Amino acid sequence: MSVSISSLRLAVQHVSFVVLTFGGHFNIFLGSSLPCLSCPFVGSCGGGCYLMAWQRAMSWLFPPLVEALTGVGSWARAWSTLNFFLSGFVVFALLVIVLGKSWCGWVCPFGVVQDYLARLRRLLGLREAEMSERVKAGVSNVKYVLLAYLTLMPVLYSFGWLSRDFVLSFCNICPAKIIMPLATLDYNRLGLPVLSSSPRAVFALILLAVTGGMVAAMFFKDRFFCLVCPMLAMINIFRRLHLLRLVKDVGSCRGCGSCRRTCAMDNQTIYRERESARPHDPDCLGCFSCAEGCSTEGSLGVRLGPLNLFGSTPVHAIGRLTGGKK
Ligand code: SF4
Ligand code: SF4
Ligand code: SF4
Repeated sequence: MSVSISSLRLAVQHVSFVVLTFGGHFNIFLGSSLPCLSCPFVGSCGGGCYLMAWQRAMSWLFPPLVEALTGVGSWARAWSTLNFFLSGFVVFALLVIVLGKSWCGWVCPFGVVQDYLARLRRLLGLREAEMSERVKAGVSNVKYVLLAYLTLMPVLYSFGWLSRDFVLSFCNICPAKIIMPLATLDYNRLGLPVLSSSPRAVFALILLAVTGGMVAAMFFKDRFFCLVCPMLAMINIFRRLHLLRLVKDVGSCRGCGSCRRTCAMDNQTIYRERESARPHDPDCLGCFSCAEGCSTEGSLGVRLGPLNLFGSTPVHAIGRLTGGKK
């Protein structure tokens, strides 16, 4: 009996969701360098989203280095600061290199929440909103702007140009900060200081507006948040090193478009690729639905380093295509 990619993925997503959002109740904590939105604002989270650790690191990393370079501070302090930063970053990089984009398609708890919103829409018989390729390409660039924003703001704080409220600049406006505690009924760390002094109140109001808009967007468009998620931008930085990846035998591809139709992100790159055996789309989530939906023997596959884990077959595709997007 063979297990389909979609059922295996569903099982892994649910196990990850339980471990990453309720693991704290069982003393599970997988570190603070996870390449997915496993949000520490959920009191019982079983591992921390690296975006939070990255923002914190940016708020203390540079001043000791600048001080050492200008002779004001010691190199010993600069090196120990750098070492501390690298200990978290190297773990993040290794996790990304091994699992690649599948952190998004298979592990991320916020991805699971988005998938449930899309399921609810389908259950209600509502059609998915359409987005032209041009609009999608524009929206997709937002993730890089957000990555620059969440890096720069804490750096400016570290040199005294902004207040402490800007350290977690992205968390302050990240919809997962509200949605994940609500989805897991764990509100202990959820604070919305709308009545406090600026800029905390401004951040709280922006967060409420972003979350409301994002819930609607994620309901009408599959994985809309993923399109703008700065974690995906960080994962993309290592794209040439990802061990778990999609492969394409461009010679056998018939151009039928099944891969395009099964993709939750409406990615076109895998379908259009006619040269490289390692197609890459900046919005790909590594879910491998396209490989499962491809009806040509061996045209699309999944590899972990040199190991072939899956190759497309007509049999898998029949099961997948009758289910449409999942
Ligand atoms: S891109 Fe989507 S799945 Fe990936 S980390 Fe962001 S929210 Fe999670
Ligand atoms: S608020 Fe968002 S960015 Fe911050 S830790 Fe939570 S999921 Fe990550
Ligand atoms: S291109 Fe394939 S692996 Fe990437 S998100 Fe779309 S269906 Fe999933």
